[in-house]
Parts: sequence; structure tokens; C-alpha cells
Amino acid sequence: MEKLRQPSLRDAAGLLADVTRHWPMAKGSLAEVRKPCVRANCPVCASGRRHRAFLFSLTEKGRRRCLYVPAALVPTLRQAIANGRWMEEQMRRTGVRLIEEHRCARRQRPSACQGGAS
Ligand SMILES: [Zn+2]
Repeated sequence: MEKLRQPSLRDAAGLLADVTRHWPMAKGSLAEVRKPCVRANCPVCASGRRHRAFLFSLTEKGRRRCLYVPAALVPTLRQAIANGRWMEEQMRRTGVRLIEEHRCARRQRPSACQGGAS
């Protein structure tokens, strides 16, 4: 029987380079909210407009957690979340491709297995 190919190992070097380009990565979501502050006689709160704030939500050990995000960090965190979603997509594709290539190789037509999932 022909040895099965190892697509995850074959592609590891390229993936590592892509991971480096997509760093930092974060898993969670970012939301903009409007909140009242604690200052007495705040004109913004008195007008009803409230203050803009950003919350980062994540799940830790099955529990939801929210953290305030400093405004200066919002663009970086937004990019990190997008990068994290990119990574999840890579993992999803790899799982599907491993199974498809395994099935293909078991049919003993490895030359037909080049495409894989995209
Ligand atoms: Zn206020």
C-alpha cells in the first residue's frame, strides 16, 4: 500500500510564515458601547449622549468575560481578532483536507488527490 501523504507537514513551513505575517492573533469579539461615567455633573452624561467605550468579550474555560479596551489599542485588537479568524479558517481547511486526502489515497488514486479543499 502506498504511503499516505502528510499535507499538514508538507505545508507547515509555508503556514508558519503566514502565521508570522498574521501576528498578533486574538480570539473573541470587540464591541463599541455607550456608558455613563462616575463624574458628578458631567455635561456629556447630562446631555444623554454618554461616553464611548470598547469591550473585548472572550470565553475562558466556558465562562464569558469582558474587558475594557483602551481606545488606542482598538485598531490593534481589531486586527488581532481578524488574524485569529484567519487562523481558525486555516485549521478548518486543514481538517477537511486531511480527511479528503486520506479518502482519496485509500482509493489508491493519489494522483487525483492534488487539489484538496480550498
Ligand atoms: Zn459622563
